[in-house]
Amino acid sequence: MRIAIVGAGLAGLACAHELERLGHRCEIFEKRDRVGKMFNTVETMLEALTTDPTKDVFETLRQELHLPVNPANHITRLVLHSRSRESLIRGRVGYTTIRGPEERSLEQQLARHCRSPIHFDQNPDVEALMAEYDWVVVATGSPKWPKHFGLWERDIAWYVRGANVIGDFNPGELHFYFDTRYAGTGYAMIAPFDGRMASAGVGVPDTTEEQLEAYWNRFRQEQGRFWEQVEDEYKLECYEMGRVRQRVLDNVIFVGNAGGFIEPLGITGQSSSLASGVYAARKLALGDDQFDRFAARWDHYYADLMRLRLNVNAWTDREMERFVGMAGRGVGSVLIRSPLNLLDLAGTAMAYLPVAQDPSPEVGPS
Ligand SMILES: Cc1cc2nc3c(=O)[nH]c(=O)nc-3n(C[C@H](O)[C@H](O)[C@H](O)COP(=O)(O)OP(=O)(O)OC[C@H]3O[C@@H](n4cnc5c(N)ncnc54)[C@H](O)[C@@H]3O)c2cc1C
Repeated sequence: MRIAIVGAGLAGLACAHELERLGHRCEIFEKRDRVGKMFNTVETMLEALTTDPTKDVFETLRQELHLPVNPANHITRLVLHSRSRESLIRGRVGYTTIRGPEERSLEQQLARHCRSPIHFDQNPDVEALMAEYDWVVVATGSPKWPKHFGLWERDIAWYVRGANVIGDFNPGELHFYFDTRYAGTGYAMIAPFDGRMASAGVGVPDTTEEQLEAYWNRFRQEQGRFWEQVEDEYKLECYEMGRVRQRVLDNVIFVGNAGGFIEPLGITGQSSSLASGVYAARKLALGDDQFDRFAARWDHYYADLMRLRLNVNAWTDREMERFVGMAGRGVGSVLIRSPLNLLDLAGTAMAYLPVAQDPSPEVGPS
């Protein structure tokens, strides 16, 4: 069987790794001249945001999906900040991962275990590959190809601005800021690579370039006391999220972000992208239905989180204060340790609330 994978990111490499484990080789086409996101950053895998929080997310990745990946840090302290409150949640909060060109990144870890050739500096035409290969796996991390085939329904776009900063950090501690002056109805975050470097940034849904810059400047001015020096700065505008109506079209299968496997509440998609790549490989190699079942389950989860996002889009600092206060009164710790998924619960609860009519109030820095 001839299989082409377009994109050597998380979903594409996870798919290649599983195909190889099941005895198939593939060819991978990658747009960049190397593996890894544009720049090194820290991302999170929070237990409360995984689709099955009864299991440790990295144990699942290694044991059930057979992926040879390790996190950067185990997070045991989550500090939530609102304008006037601060709450600490201790325990099994989740992990941080490194993304980008450096050797500890998830992509580099996977690439070291893949034997299939990766053709760099390639931006192939998927329709041409369809004629040449038995299967084409689209893992480009973007909606370009589902849009091309008329399968994409856009819901929201996130805007991200940040930097890697040098300072003195606790590698097991994450800080999230829910404060409309820093990120509107999104959030700001400080996530360490290690004791000396962290990613600091703001993520804002459906905003403008000017507004994003104003949020970032405010956050930097007021929280910059936590770092001594700013290294690489980054900006990402209009990171689109949406639904892919059909993930298998003729001999093409869409995985990772290109398959809509990223959640719109807070931009998390690493574990779902990895899983979608592995399940796609099993579909091609074994003809089983794990990919279809995972996709169906994902669609429900996504719909709940999108509904929750539309409600959060109408939050003011009052709701943010309440949320952080509730987390501080132990609700956060209980839910993190519980076999129930915080967001499944919240999403389901939100299903019974009316959806906010004006989802994007611009409450920006003054
Ligand atoms: C700023 C930011 C912060 C994030 N934070 C988190 C977080 O904290 N936690 C979390 O779980 N998720 C987070 N995410 C989401 C997470 O990074 C993605 O869900 C995940 O990387 C998607 O994996 P993927 O394989 O679909 O795409 P990617 O990992 O992006 O890989 C896509 C690959 O395809 C290549 N490519 C693109 N176009 C082409 C083409 N035409 N031809 C060939 N190759 C191509 C790219 O160069 C890249 O190598 C964040 C995303 C961003 C942008």
